[in-house]
Formats: sequence, C-alpha cells, structure tokens
Amino acid sequence: MMQPAAPELLAALCPPAAEVELYNEKERDVPLDRHWDLVLFSYLDPFYDHTRVLSEIFRRRGMTTVAGGRHARQFARDCTRWFDAVVTAEPEANLSGLIADFERGRLRKIYDLPAGSPSAIPPYRYDLVDFRTNRFRSPTVEASRGCPFACNFCVLTGREPYVYRPIDDVLRDIRGMRWNRGLHGLLHRAFMFYDNNLGGSPRHLRALCEALLPLKTTWGCSVTFNVLEDHELVRLMARAGCGFIYTGLESLNARSIESMNKRQNRLRHLDAVIRRTYAEGILLSFGLVIGSDGDTNEYLVRLPDYLSDLKFFAITFLGILCPYPGTPLFATVAREGRLLPGTTARDLDTYTVCHRARHLDPTEVAEHYQRLCRSVARLPNLVRHCADKFFLSDRRGYKPGLVVASLEARSITHNLRNPERTYIAGRDGIEAWDAEQMRTLGMEPQRIEATAACDAATAIG
Ligand code: SF4
Repeated sequence: MMQPAAPELLAALCPPAAEVELYNEKERDVPLDRHWDLVLFSYLDPFYDHTRVLSEIFRRRGMTTVAGGRHARQFARDCTRWFDAVVTAEPEANLSGLIADFERGRLRKIYDLPAGSPSAIPPYRYDLVDFRTNRFRSPTVEASRGCPFACNFCVLTGREPYVYRPIDDVLRDIRGMRWNRGLHGLLHRAFMFYDNNLGGSPRHLRALCEALLPLKTTWGCSVTFNVLEDHELVRLMARAGCGFIYTGLESLNARSIESMNKRQNRLRHLDAVIRRTYAEGILLSFGLVIGSDGDTNEYLVRLPDYLSDLKFFAITFLGILCPYPGTPLFATVAREGRLLPGTTARDLDTYTVCHRARHLDPTEVAEHYQRLCRSVARLPNLVRHCADKFFLSDRRGYKPGLVVASLEARSITHNLRNPERTYIAGRDGIEAWDAEQMRTLGMEPQRIEATAACDAATAIG
C-alpha cells in the first residue's frame, strides 16, 4: 500500500524536457534490454548488492549510473567503484547540478551540497504513478523530514535535522495527487504521509490537521507513542481524515526501551491509549523489535502473555534490532566487538541477527524471532484482536478496515516461508539471480566491518 515516493521526487527534480521512466522493483522488474542516458538508483541497505549488479550491467552497456540515499552516503567510497556518481546529501540541492554536469560531460564523483530550505521540495510527479502495477497503492506525500528524537538504532539519529515543509506546499501536493480509483473506489482520496514521524512537532501536526479538515481526504501516518497519549490531538487527527497510524512501540520491556534510548515510549497507559485511538475510528498498527540489550530470555518467552493481556493489538512489523552503520547502536556494538563476523549488507534487513545482544546468544534471538512471528500471527489471536475492537467505532470504513488490517498482521510470517533461512548474519545467501550475476561480474557481497562507523566525509577522504 505504501511505496517509496523517491522516484516521483527525483522525476520532479529533472529538467522539464527530460523523458523520465520510473521503476519500483517491488512492483515490476527493471528491464535489462533498454537504453537510458542516465539511471538514478535509490535503494535500501540489504539491496545494495542487487543495485550495484544492475548498475554494472548498465555501465557495461554504456549507460551512466548514479547512487543516492542513506547507504550511498554511508558507503560513498565503495559506491564510487560501482556507480559513475554518488549523491551523499539531499537530492533537491544536488540533482539539477549533477544533470547539468552530465550534459556537459563533466560528471563529478560526489555530489554533497547541503540541504536547502524544505520549501525547495518541488511538487511530486504524481502523473507518473502507475496504479496498474500495484492496485493497492496509495499516493504518498511528505510533510517533514528527520525526527527530533534520538533512538540509538535509528538511521536518522544524529544525521538528519528535523524540518517541516510549509503547510501550503503539502496541501498543494495533496490537491495535485493522482488518486487510486481502482478497488471499487476504496482508496479514492486516500493517501499516506511517509514521514518517519509526522508528530515530531505536535504543534505543527495540529496546524496541519486544521488545514486538512476541508479537504475531506483519508490518510495514514507514523507517529511516536507520545502523540497517541495526547487524546485531543488524536481526536483532531481523526476529524482531519486520519484513519491509520503506525507506531514503533519496539518493546513492552522498560529495560529494552531504555537501552534503545526511546524515552518517548513510556507505555504507561498502553491499553487505555489503544482503546481510545480505536474509539476515534483510527486503526493502529505497531512495530516490535527483539534482540536489544534490555531483552532477556524471560521477557521474550513471556511476550505472548503480555500481548494477550492487551488483546493482541495489531502488530504489522516484528523484527530483529539491526545495527545500521552510522547509528549510535552500530558504534557501540562495533567498539565492544559485538558485530557478528561475516555480516554483509544483505543482512541489514531487520530480520537477521547482526550483533550479539548483552543477555542473549544470536541463536536464541533467531529462535525467539521465529516463535514470536508464529505466535503473534495465529488466527485465533487476530480474531480476538478484531472482536475486541470491532464495536469501538462506527466511523465509515472502520470495520472493514479493521478486518483487513488484522489479516495484514499475518504478513509477519512471510519471512518464515524460506526453510533455509537461519536469520543469523553471514549464514544466509543472497537471491539466486544476484548471486549468479555477481559471480559473472566478479563481485563479492559487501562486508560490513566494524570500521564502517565512519561517515561519508571520512569515507571519501
Ligand atoms: S522516533 Fe522513530 S524516527 Fe524518531 S529517532 Fe526514534 S526510531 Fe527514528
């Protein structure tokens, strides 16, 4: 439902005369028999090997390739081997200069101009979104970037200032959206904010909601738990069209929350907050991670009981704490020699144990992970959750949405489909097609060493 909007943003930053095509590999394959002058890649860490395979194939056929995004910033030196240019900062400040240099035949290796004002973000090219490749997709928009909190595992911590866009610009983008009119109109005038934390400034969120009231749209977003505790704000969000909220609870264990520096999640009135939010007609979805330094075998064994006490609220993400290079967590585990040997970029997928937690062996974390996925997604648990919340609201779309969202929680077991997976870094292979191409191209998987705690500037030297 929610797909990255980076392609539509990059397209908006290209010169108006440029012919632009967008490919999202979650929705359709990138054709390997086409020719483009310039190929821009944006990707997540575990797909780095796959992305540089594509880049190398295109370069050998005479095309010019560019990498951007957080992994490219962190590993700029490595990226310069496989891409003709690397953007290590925000695209708005760098892409037009890069394209001008390309047209003059003077492409530089690194583009790193600092971000300008958030008002420099142009209207997205929603006209290029093709709903035929994903019937469930909602258009997305960003109202802010960064986050004011400092969770130790988060790739935003210490790297991205928290900024929000002028509300008029956000409204302009929403008014210019191309809506998904399929699915019998179910998603018409529905969109998602893809901000990491739409509630980073509750004052700004309030103003945004006031501005959204007349638009009569339905939307979803991610906010931190402290926003859910503010009942007045949640009520205003519901009136402004909010129908879905994702929150990274991360843990029900106070020690684990503390070890992650996630102090905004106090979780004191969790049950009351959940019921209040559902009663406003807003569907909640939570994320939990295991394998933090506060986790113990005892807590993880009892976790299903804790969830049962809360009528198995909807968990749509259950993952394993990942030490992304560049984060405070990575610096700690690297310094303390706790990064697992043989960790590769492919393992940075939040479903693989990449470091040794203080009180748990990697195999224990992997076993707890598989057991919890099965337990949380058991059909009777989802039925209990659904039945418990079913009559809390009569808001239009609430009840069908609750059923669909509850079933969506089953997706956390998808990872268990591959019986060969060990969920431990260095032991699970990459996709067969990538492995074959890498052999042909003479590439090795990117290894994540403890020294990867450097930033882009030192990486480039
Ligand atoms: S609240 Fe969420 S977005 Fe903000 S730093 Fe923590 S994990 Fe990152």
